[in-house]
Amino acid sequence: MTAAPDHLPPLAGLENARLDWRQDDSGESAPHSSAFDDVYFSRHDGRAETEHVFLAANRLPERFRDWQAPRPFVIGETGFGTGLNMLCAWACFDAHAPAGARLHLVSTEKFPLARDDLARALTAWPDLAERAAALVAQWPEPVAGVHRLWLDDRVTLDLHFGDTTERLQLLDGAVDAWFLDGFAPSKNPEMWHDALFAAMAARSRPGATFATFTCAGVVKRGLRAAGFAWRKVPGFGRKREMLAGEIETPPADERRRATPWLTPPAVQTARRVAVIGAGLAGTTVAAALARRGVAVTLIDREGPGAGASGNAQGALYVKLAADTNLQSRCYLAGLLHSRRWLAALDPDQALWSPGGVLQLATTAREARRQARFLANHPLPERVVRGVDAEEAGRLAGLDLPHGGLDYPLAGWVRPDALCRRLAASDGVSAYRGEVRELSPIAGDDEDGGWRLTLSGGDGGGGGKNGENTLEVDQVVIAAANGSNRFAQTAALPLQPVRGQISRLTLPQGAPAPARVVCAGGYVMPPIDATLTFGASFAPNDADAATREADHTFNLEELERTLPGYAAALTEAGAELSPAALDGRTAVRAASPDKSPYAGPVPDAEAWRRDYAALAKDATLIPATPGRHHPGLWISAAHGSRGLASAPLCAELIASRICDEPLPLEAPLADHLHPGRRVIRDLIRGH
Ligand code: SAM
Repeated sequence: MTAAPDHLPPLAGLENARLDWRQDDSGESAPHSSAFDDVYFSRHDGRAETEHVFLAANRLPERFRDWQAPRPFVIGETGFGTGLNMLCAWACFDAHAPAGARLHLVSTEKFPLARDDLARALTAWPDLAERAAALVAQWPEPVAGVHRLWLDDRVTLDLHFGDTTERLQLLDGAVDAWFLDGFAPSKNPEMWHDALFAAMAARSRPGATFATFTCAGVVKRGLRAAGFAWRKVPGFGRKREMLAGEIETPPADERRRATPWLTPPAVQTARRVAVIGAGLAGTTVAAALARRGVAVTLIDREGPGAGASGNAQGALYVKLAADTNLQSRCYLAGLLHSRRWLAALDPDQALWSPGGVLQLATTAREARRQARFLANHPLPERVVRGVDAEEAGRLAGLDLPHGGLDYPLAGWVRPDALCRRLAASDGVSAYRGEVRELSPIAGDDEDGGWRLTLSGGDGGGGGKNGENTLEVDQVVIAAANGSNRFAQTAALPLQPVRGQISRLTLPQGAPAPARVVCAGGYVMPPIDATLTFGASFAPNDADAATREADHTFNLEELERTLPGYAAALTEAGAELSPAALDGRTAVRAASPDKSPYAGPVPDAEAWRRDYAALAKDATLIPATPGRHHPGLWISAAHGSRGLASAPLCAELIASRICDEPLPLEAPLADHLHPGRRVIRDLIRGH
């Protein structure tokens, strides 16, 4: 069954592919699908078949050679399987594309291979070994959704796990060349239906090509009905014919009809971008843009990680709702994304530790909530699983009276060091100062860019009144609570949330948790003999002073989370009084619905005019697409979960700016849209 475009299928784990291994023509064992009774690649010569059917018939060598666009060339594939096609496309890109070109691969897969099977299947191609290793190292858990992998500096792979048609309907992105793969139509009739071809057409760039090994009537008819022209061309090996073709004029994207305000802004020049704020939100955006060849000026009053992202240690974890909602989906996607992104950025784990996170059920109510969560979300055990008190205690290395949820892939990060590392990325230059004002350079010119008026810090101040100006093509605001102090962002509500952590120097031999343990608060494995726990949580309090009362609160929370642990620490010689604790306080920013803002900044005044009728009749569907401040973006309201949300939001924004497919399903990207509150208020007549 396929899903309607904006309907998300359940948040669940997927079945791995069931394989048996059969000898190919050269006597090597090759993967064969037991479920579909078909081969993953030709037993005659899989590599040569891929090159003939998918690469040559899409004219990839020539198109790569001629690729000059600032955006990446996008290949879409139905059925990732072993990844052979995509690895060959990557090798072909490296052989032919000019130095500045980029490649973006999008592939669907409903039955992902288990990691060991993937590695084994790819050993058949020794000259692809390095590429295969990059893929295997980042191979995601089998969870429905989008998983972004960084194959190298120029090549990105988005794996869309789930049914092909459903996934293409949820894709926000457009494709230049399609690999129409998947087991033969006779073996897999469920996949080859009209809705698939319609979804491909709707996600095609004008002139997008396709190639497929089959000439089945259902494929020819379906492609033609969807608007693709095709011709028969010589097939590979014993197959006489195959199909190749193109779509000149893809159909209009109907997705935005019901929510025109979410129409993305037109793509604009982005050679130079200013990012305001050098916390996690800003430094992740800066690094994501710089990786795409954009020159970034990263502006901060105090430097990287000075605000809420400046703790020496922070937990990478999420709290997911018992009943699935869009926010939970975004956070789970964010957690899995952060984990993969950290492993790619810092394989030596100098900046993070993947030791796991235990979320304890310290009350009967929380235990019931967790049981409901597990019943509603059949996710792989590597992602989240229920554990009893004994197992929890074994994992944490401490006696625990409660069980809970274990997230083996989560862990902790050094946010301050991470921000500094990202701020030092090639292509990012730092500016110490404060942005006073943002003004569009040419009022009516969509591509006119922005002028920033800066002052303070040691950034200069050579101009009048100690002010400087900076002119850029686009701007990303990532300044936590300061994000809505500009005229253009004033309509986006943000709430300050004060949070203080406590730090204790551990005496030698003192017990310590081996995993991050959280309940109301959290406590992390020590680094450099310092135990960090907390954090207090005070909405609407923007005072950044460290308070004794907050230390007392954190100590009480530590006792609730790990009963008896404080006594064990005291016995080991630690002094557990507020006076003996060190602290750090920061003010985080939250949106009213507690989801981040990640996307283009709406022109709220225009929305209020264009959509005023919604106040009287919320069922109206206005025709006007949403107007945005051209080239102005925001990543903010990450609250205390920035480690899980900021890296994914950064990719989301950089992908939009650089005209690439998004790393999230369209409804999730919509959920994070900064204009959601403006439209909600209009509908409610506020
Ligand atoms: N392109 C692959 C490669 O390079 O190894 C080979 C693809 S294999 C012949 C077909 C793949 O399509 C299998 O991995 C299978 O699990 C996947 N598949 C089959 N039906 C599907 C569906 N409805 N949605 C998504 N993937 C599907």
